[in-house]
Amino acid sequence: MGFGFRPQYNRAATRCHSEMLNGQGMDHDSTIFALSTPRGRGGVAVIRMSGIKTQQAIELITKKPAPAARLASVRGVYNPDSGDLVDEALVLFFSGPNSYTGEDVAELHLHGGLAVIDEVLEVLGEQAGLTPAGPGDFTRRAVINGRLDLTRAEAVADLIDAETRAQKNQALRQMRGALGTLYQGWRRRLSQALAHLEADIEFADEDLPGGIGQAVLADVAALTTEIEEHLAERRGRSLREGVEIALIGAPNVGKSSLLNVMAGREAAIVSARAGTTRDVIEVSLEIAGVPVVMADTAGLREAGDEIEREGVRRAKKRASEADLKLFVLAADQDTDTIEDSGIDVAGDDFVIVNKTDLADPAKRNRDVEEFAPNVPATAIWPVSAKTGAGMEAFLDALEQTVARLFGLTDHPALTRKRHKLALEAALVGLHRALSVAGDEAGLELVAEDMRLAMREIGRITGEVDVEALLDIVFSDFCIGK
Ligand code: GDP
Repeated sequence: MGFGFRPQYNRAATRCHSEMLNGQGMDHDSTIFALSTPRGRGGVAVIRMSGIKTQQAIELITKKPAPAARLASVRGVYNPDSGDLVDEALVLFFSGPNSYTGEDVAELHLHGGLAVIDEVLEVLGEQAGLTPAGPGDFTRRAVINGRLDLTRAEAVADLIDAETRAQKNQALRQMRGALGTLYQGWRRRLSQALAHLEADIEFADEDLPGGIGQAVLADVAALTTEIEEHLAERRGRSLREGVEIALIGAPNVGKSSLLNVMAGREAAIVSARAGTTRDVIEVSLEIAGVPVVMADTAGLREAGDEIEREGVRRAKKRASEADLKLFVLAADQDTDTIEDSGIDVAGDDFVIVNKTDLADPAKRNRDVEEFAPNVPATAIWPVSAKTGAGMEAFLDALEQTVARLFGLTDHPALTRKRHKLALEAALVGLHRALSVAGDEAGLELVAEDMRLAMREIGRITGEVDVEALLDIVFSDFCIGK
């Protein structure tokens, strides 16, 4: 049945392998090396090294002193045992701490062939004190050596995984510190508030009753609101992880045909027979820079056999989980209504009335309330997948909605579940702090809850608990990064 489309967006397929342990228990004194470019034929292959023995290794395999820091030099690369020339390379040396990892780093820009790559890796592997790097080991060292906070390290992985421009820009901003700066700023505000509060507690006897820490608490309340707003927005995670849009509606209303138009190519089976789209078909598209999986679900209807019933069940489940729904009706079938489908069409969802070319001209602009009584007229889009009528307006609106809901904005957005969990834990502390704040006897408890919130926020950037977090953060990194 091959629907031979190739997904444009497939995070799983592009994720690099991390079959090795993430440098767990790795010796940070060792010198690591790895191929940092994909293994395969190419113009150039880059092998990176980091650690105390870097300079020595370069001198051994090039038979010359290491090049001056940051100056590219062309050198022969030799097997030090046999003396044989292995390749000719462009060699770069970065002297620590002014390097990516904070240690001495070298890059060998080799000719990008498998035999060259393998032989150089072999030569390096035979040197005492040199160890192959695990996934993310270079970036891990950068974090340990204070070159990057955890949010910036995570952004390095996101930048490598980014498949759309908006994803890339979000990762780039985070890598340059936008998110880390926000969280560090929050932590600093809390720490200042805490210092004032502690002073108030200490000098409580001299204080006038009722005046304690009020200004401090106002700022904590303001900060709490800021964190809540930041948490309420899904866009950063949506953009990073991709969003799902479900096409739903009765069989034969033209869902597959609409999907084809959207994909701009033959992306799904188009069939005149009802009920052939039995399962969920996914097409990956980029809409407004956001990676979108369009899920063409089975037609919603009284299903005949078991397989169809299963298809309908899956369609409904899928629809209820989607980030956005496109509910499709056919203009020539006036019997189907959204109400009958039992699916909620809400907020930003679209109702598409397809096949307007077939509708009785007198009825073409008929009152759409018949189809969708509880849906505002602005959410209803009359189109014809066949003639293309109305498609442009609908696609423009879809693009705007996706951009508005999930696209990149100027302010830094929450991008990871790890950050979300920490902020939620911080909020628990802040809410508790605010709830007992009126009670002077509770000021010690307020301070303790503020400390808890600070600790949680500090975990996001790695100011707190960094060692414990390294394995979590580096679990989906590439070797060589
Ligand atoms: P699905 O079951 O909802 O996915 O519907 P399909 O996309 O398979 O379309 C069912 C039938 O309707 C096919 O024969 C299509 O060619 C036809 N069709 C789809 N859209 C239109 C349209 O806008 N106008 C007309 N006249 N036919 C359409």
